Amino acid sequence: MVYKITLIPGDGIGPEVSNAARRCVDATGVKIDWEIAEAGADVIDKYGTPLPDSTLASIRKNKVALKGPLTTPIGTGFRSVNVAIRKELDLYACLRPTRSYKGVRSRYENIDLVIVRENTEDLYAGIEFEEGKPETKELIGAIERLAKKKIRADSGISIKPISIKGSKRIVKFAFDYAVKHGRKKVTAISKANIMKFTDGLFFKAAQEVAKEYPGVEYEERLIDNMCMQLVQKPELYDVLCLPNLYGDILSDLCAGLIGGLGIAPGANHGDEIAVFEAIHGSAPKYAGQNKVNPVAMILSAVLMLDHLGEKAAAQRLDKAVAKVIAAGKSVTYDLKPDRNDPTAVSTSQMADAIIAAL
Ligand code: NAD
Repeated sequence: MVYKITLIPGDGIGPEVSNAARRCVDATGVKIDWEIAEAGADVIDKYGTPLPDSTLASIRKNKVALKGPLTTPIGTGFRSVNVAIRKELDLYACLRPTRSYKGVRSRYENIDLVIVRENTEDLYAGIEFEEGKPETKELIGAIERLAKKKIRADSGISIKPISIKGSKRIVKFAFDYAVKHGRKKVTAISKANIMKFTDGLFFKAAQEVAKEYPGVEYEERLIDNMCMQLVQKPELYDVLCLPNLYGDILSDLCAGLIGGLGIAPGANHGDEIAVFEAIHGSAPKYAGQNKVNPVAMILSAVLMLDHLGEKAAAQRLDKAVAKVIAAGKSVTYDLKPDRNDPTAVSTSQMADAIIAAL
């Protein structure tokens, strides 16, 4: 069987790591007809938008995409294309398995956590009111009337919607993942003691869903306490399920537990469509140098192979990555004991070594 899959190379370091991942997947022998689709700042002149309809149409048609990172200008310019893809395709579940690989320098060993982050709601809904604008003044007036609370006139406001539907489906995703992958426990995380009507609602929805899964343990933690717990005793946790913003922050914390963003993969799932991408961004300062670590992107492709049902190929590629990292020879600068180690190999050479280890 030949799978048709959308490949978005991305920008910055995106094309380098995407190409490495594509070559590794092809080397497993799984037959893939890659459909290249463009997105990002570089294509605005050509399409008038950083997210062309043709790219979304390709993902909708193929149902599976592998995506390189895309740059988001800070403060000004367009909104994140990464967030837009997730919203347009209703990819509500962001899956981020975080596992230690032998040979990666880290303060921790044997980390094996899975983050399930809600992807469509919360402060990431993109509903923002700029300081000083007439509509912001109107909103401040309405809030003062309705909530009887004072807001400073020179405030900007971001809205945090969290729904029962959105919460239930992400928690259900976390439990289904736990059942499918033999996981024992789901921990729901929020700040329900302060934000009762959003984070409190998230916990309430989670408790209802948890009742449907008597075989999986369920517990709750507050996000601030969870940060400390993960640093002190990460071995107590298994699948972590969070609203959007907390999930984003905890993903980076967990990437730190396993030795950094260079080896942390991810996936964005909807009911039918899935887009696989590393947690890391486009690291513009390294763009075009063939220098960065391709492993996060290659492990995202491992998740993709698993999703396609190509379990044997997924396991072979995962083992090949582990072998090359453990050997410590053909690895990029970030995996060497000294970042200036002259024996560090390039992005493409590390992919070559992984392919040779398959
Ligand atoms: P980043 O992840 O791009 O880079 C931060 C640092 O992490 C880099 O300077 C580098 O030291 C290290 N790093 C990242 N990837 C690495 C790799 N593969 N190998 C070795 N080291 C690596 O984060 P940033 O600098 O905050 O963001 C840069 C741009 O990427 C921003 O425009 C941001 O919006 C975007 N971004 C995109 C995505 C996505 O496409 N899903 C995700 C995060 C950030």
